[in-house]
Amino acid sequence: AKELGGNSVQFFDPLLAIAIEQRRKLENDLRNAIREDEFVLYYQPIVDLVAGDLVGAEALIRWRHPERGLVPPDDFIPLAEESELINEIGLWALDVAVKRLALWREAGNRLYLSLNVSARQIPDGLPPKVILDATRRHGIEPGTLALEITEGVLLADLGDAARWLSEIRALGFPVYLDDFGTGYSSLSYLKRFAVDRLKVDKSFVRDIAHNISDRALVEAVVAMAKSLGIEVVAEGVEDPEHIQLLRGMGCRYAQGYYFSRPLPVEDFCAMCERIPLM
Ligand code: C2E
Ligand code: CA
Ligand code: CA
Ligand code: CA
Repeated sequence: AKELGGNSVQFFDPLLAIAIEQRRKLENDLRNAIREDEFVLYYQPIVDLVAGDLVGAEALIRWRHPERGLVPPDDFIPLAEESELINEIGLWALDVAVKRLALWREAGNRLYLSLNVSARQIPDGLPPKVILDATRRHGIEPGTLALEITEGVLLADLGDAARWLSEIRALGFPVYLDDFGTGYSSLSYLKRFAVDRLKVDKSFVRDIAHNISDRALVEAVVAMAKSLGIEVVAEGVEDPEHIQLLRGMGCRYAQGYYFSRPLPVEDFCAMCERIPLM
């Protein structure tokens, strides 16, 4: 045991030491990743269940790590969120997304993109003005760039979050409330903040074919959203039964492995050629 001064004594734990070392390395690698151009956006289709059309895509980040291969966001976004790194990553993603939208526009493709924003980026890591400038620079209409936020923003300064949100929406960027239903304050969120769409979390959608209470929950969310004038996207749609049920509930939009996994841009574009998806 090592004395740390005062009365606190710290014991040396080799496993903990290894974990700390690995984490330090990951953090270091993460710092280099932008410079080394190691991040990549994957695209997952969002489908209109009524029209049977592809309407947009969610941009989902991956990290092509030189040793570890393709690293999923859950393995590095939380770490990035502990520092300013998440802001850099967010600006990188914004830049890639608007460039992609510009290319799609040139090709006559009218899909929108939605971008995940961490609570930590709000308000100063991703100022509304910066988003507006990026879209203007590339001639993108604000309506085609949606921002997905979670109720985690409620943990930030409420005034700041509210101001950011209302500025974003006033500029014409749609705001999606992500992972709806997973937190403790989904309803109070809706009471405080106006959003354009909510995304019902996949944990509720997964079992709607077999679990009566899950089905009732999703149905209630869709009905409530409708009365508030908010559209609903069901996440985690994996089989045709889901689609029939969601349609019956009046849920207009869906996303999930049934349509496609998130894809690298070339594969996504190739898939677009093959629509209709249903
Ligand atoms: P999310 O925003 O809730 O994204 C949906 C996740 O569900 C994605 O995981 C997606 O691949 C997965 N998914 C889609 N359809 C299905 C399905 O049918 N079944 C199942 N089981 N899963 C499905 P992914 O790509 O690993 O992303 C995980 C999380 O990482 C995202 O959750 C989001 O919170 C975060 N994230 C991803 N990209 C970014 C980013 O650019 N910035 C920030 N701040 N966070 C990001
Ligand atoms: Ca999302
Ligand atoms: Ca989600
Ligand atoms: Ca999530």
